[in-house]
Amino acid sequence: MNENENKPMHFIRQIIAEDIAKGLEPSAVHTRFPPEPNGCLHIGHAKAFCIDFGMALENGGKCNLRFDDTNPDKEETRFVESIKEDVHWLGFDWEDRLYYASDYFEKLYSLAEELIMSGKAYVCTLSPEEFKEYRGVPGQPGRPSPWRDRPPEESLDLFRRMRAGEFEEGAYVLRAKIDMASPNLHMRDPAIYRIKKAGHHRTGDKWCIYPMYDFAHCLSDAIEGITHSLCTLEFEVHRPLYDWFIDNTSIIKTLKVHPRQYEFARLNLSHTVMSKRKLQQLVADKIVDGWDDPRMPTLSGMRRRGYTPEAIKDFCETIGVTKFNSLTELALLEHCLRSDLNKKALRRMAVFDPLEVEIENWEDGKIDMLDAVNNPEDESAGSRKIAFSRRIYIERSDFMENPPKKFFRLSPGNEVRLRYAYLLKCNKVVKDAGGNVVKLLCTIDPASRGGSSPDGRKVKATIHWLSAEHAKPATARLFENLFTRADMTNLPEGSDVMDFINPESLSEREIIVEPALLEATPGTPLQFERNAYFTVDSKLGSREHPVFNRTVTLKDSYGK
Ligand code: ATP
Ligand code: MG
Repeated sequence: MNENENKPMHFIRQIIAEDIAKGLEPSAVHTRFPPEPNGCLHIGHAKAFCIDFGMALENGGKCNLRFDDTNPDKEETRFVESIKEDVHWLGFDWEDRLYYASDYFEKLYSLAEELIMSGKAYVCTLSPEEFKEYRGVPGQPGRPSPWRDRPPEESLDLFRRMRAGEFEEGAYVLRAKIDMASPNLHMRDPAIYRIKKAGHHRTGDKWCIYPMYDFAHCLSDAIEGITHSLCTLEFEVHRPLYDWFIDNTSIIKTLKVHPRQYEFARLNLSHTVMSKRKLQQLVADKIVDGWDDPRMPTLSGMRRRGYTPEAIKDFCETIGVTKFNSLTELALLEHCLRSDLNKKALRRMAVFDPLEVEIENWEDGKIDMLDAVNNPEDESAGSRKIAFSRRIYIERSDFMENPPKKFFRLSPGNEVRLRYAYLLKCNKVVKDAGGNVVKLLCTIDPASRGGSSPDGRKVKATIHWLSAEHAKPATARLFENLFTRADMTNLPEGSDVMDFINPESLSEREIIVEPALLEATPGTPLQFERNAYFTVDSKLGSREHPVFNRTVTLKDSYGK
């Protein structure tokens, strides 16, 4: 059976299936992911490239990675590298098909000259303000530029001189000659080339005119032989223009298949923003510590926080592909994350707020090495040894001197199970002069080694602990949502994203951890038992004093 038959149908799968039914070779399906290297990728981009690569892969076709680098002001090589790393991290590969729109600058330039010669483009002298004014508004036709009928030879001469650097920015633009009365503003003689005296991260100072995104994008698709050009809904209104550029240049003669664009809804996630401009602002204003801050919805931030590629891919598959804009609950992403982490995370013990316990019937200096299972969900993860000794730490919140009825953890006279170790009973509470509990005097049942109940007596609670002399100090970074408001796509009038920053999105705690945690590597999923999922931060801390990022809490509230 075809494995694709198990995948849920969505409109893009449907379209490709129909194209194949009409005779397209499945292996001819050719898509591309076209990021602009002006920022790091976010979870919305992951949705896009899971679709781009996914549609190609499931048909045995190809997907290119193409950097749409037509705006030199904002583009940087470090973003190129970070984007490549993120796509690979999710397990996708462009093989030998890594392209840049800037690779096609010469070709695009010659197609622009062609348009001029065929009377389908002209150099316009209107200022940017006049350009806008002449273009008009929807519902009313625009006015033709006085330069619209400039003879092709004259336009060609000016265009070549634009390229040669003879003019200042804004002095001229090259425009397509389409239809100033079109109800679609994008068809009202759009700009195709503008003068921009800016160095480019790849072509350096070679060019001082740059193609507009709308011109470069569709023609790059054509140059690369893209069959299905998949993108988000905001490009729907650009589609007639894309087709016009392809259909009115000689590129059309080279095509085996005409690229067709299909648009799907962007991912919007609650309590976060997804626009690169806004993410850039968070970085610039130092609200976060860089693009890869673990609170960011960027893939580099999520990786640092401990998200797994599998969880992100599962999420992208779960949300599906539609044409309707909506707001997806962050809780759904966290649900996908927890179900993956539950399978993979190494269970470890860490104590956040230590309370000392002295075990009166345990000899000073005696150490018992106990077996602790690394992952009850995965036998192959094996086990480790943990040290037990006379002085241990438990979590302060696991003890109550005067417990209410339903409190089954430690209290005077009550017995609990120490995870992997012994049954422990509290005999006496030691307090300081201020009446604060500083220590508990307890005994263990030597017959309960490993945590079993020797005579079958009921012990309702199991708590985690650390041997005092073996515990190591570490730092835990706890994250909350970056924004206090769920729907950040739709802000109340007059407000700005900055009005909804959560001042408590990061807090740090000094904690103690079991020695095995000093061996943990960044990205390895960990579960601090009874607490939350964590991973080691890739930038902060040291081997002796690691910093752990809380990936996500244990409790899943999605769908409840
Ligand atoms: P921004 O609007 O934040 O600047 P962008 O869409 O301009 O982002 P690009 O680098 O041009 O960023 O995006 C590359 C691809 O990713 C595009 O095809 C775009 O449609 C898609 N994409 C961007 N954001 C999302 C999102 N939130 N959900 C799904 N796809 C997205
Ligand atoms: Mg874009």
